[in-house]
Amino acid sequence: MIAASRTHSADAHEGRAPGTLLRVFAPRIAVYLSLAALCLGLSACAGKEPAHSAAQGAAPAPGASSSSAAPSPSATRQPGTAATGVKPEVVKHGPRTGNKVALTFDADMTDFMQKQLAEGKIASYANLKILDLLEKEKIPTTFFLTGQWVEQYPDVTRRITGNPIFEVANHSYEHMGFVPKCYTLPQLSPQLMTTDVSRTFDVIKPYGGRQTRYFRFPGGCYDQAALQALAPLGLTVIEWDVVSGDPFATAYKPIVNAVLSTVQAGSIVVLHITEGNAQYTDEAMPEILAGLKQKGLQPVTLSELLGG
Ligand SMILES: [Zn+2]
Repeated sequence: MIAASRTHSADAHEGRAPGTLLRVFAPRIAVYLSLAALCLGLSACAGKEPAHSAAQGAAPAPGASSSSAAPSPSATRQPGTAATGVKPEVVKHGPRTGNKVALTFDADMTDFMQKQLAEGKIASYANLKILDLLEKEKIPTTFFLTGQWVEQYPDVTRRITGNPIFEVANHSYEHMGFVPKCYTLPQLSPQLMTTDVSRTFDVIKPYGGRQTRYFRFPGGCYDQAALQALAPLGLTVIEWDVVSGDPFATAYKPIVNAVLSTVQAGSIVVLHITEGNAQYTDEAMPEILAGLKQKGLQPVTLSELLGG
C-alpha cells in the first residue's frame, strides 16, 4: 500500500523553492533536483502522461459562465481581488511583523492522477486525516483546489467550504504547466491559460463558503506571459516561502523539520492534501502545529495573513 501509493507525480513540484527563493533554500537544492530527476526517470510521472483531449479543451464545466471570469462590481469583494487588466501581484509571504503564518494545502489532480484512481492504483488523493485534525484543532487553513480535484471529490469540497475556518483558492483546472518547462508537467497552451483559471473559479464557485481570488500556479512555475494571461481575471498570485517537501517524503519527520526550520512570522507554508503522493503529511501535522505554537506563531487563513 505504501509502496503503491508512492506515485511520482508532477503535482509534487510545489515541493521546490521557486525563483529567487532558491538562494534562500540553497541547502535543499540538491534534494529538489534529485526529486525532479527521479520523476524524470520514471514513465509513471504525471508529466509523462499525455493529457486527454477533454481536459485540454476549453469546454466550460456545466453551469459555468464566462461572466464569472471577473467579479462583478456589485459582488462582495473576495480576498485576493485585484484590478482587472493589469498583471497580478505575486505574493510569497505576508508581513514579517506580528506572529501570523498561513498553512496552505494544495489539492492537485492531473489527468494521470485521475487515471491512477480509475485503475485502482491509488486509493485516494484526499487526505481526510488532515481535515479531521484541522477541524478538531480548529486551525484556519487555505486550500488551493484544482478544478479536477473538486470534480473528483465534491463531498470533500463541501466539507471544506462548509467550515468557516477554511477558505478556498484556485490551483488551476488540471494542474498543467504554465511555462514551457515546469518540471515534467505537460504544458498548457498559452491560449488556454485564462480559460483554465477562469473555469476553475467557475467550478469552485457553486460550493460557496469562503471563496477567494487567490491563485497558485502548478509547480509555482510562471513567467511574465503567464501573469499577463491572468490579468483579465482580477486575482492575486500566491507562492510560498516555506517548502514542506511533503510530496515524495519517505517519513513524516523531514516534513516537520523542513517547516519548523524555516518558518517565521508572515510565512506561507505549502503542503499537500493529496494523500496518494503525499502520504506522511497527516502524520507531520501534529508536530508542525505544536512547533508553531512553541515558536509563538499562529496559523491563520491567507486572507487574514495578507489583510484580505
Ligand atoms: Zn500543485
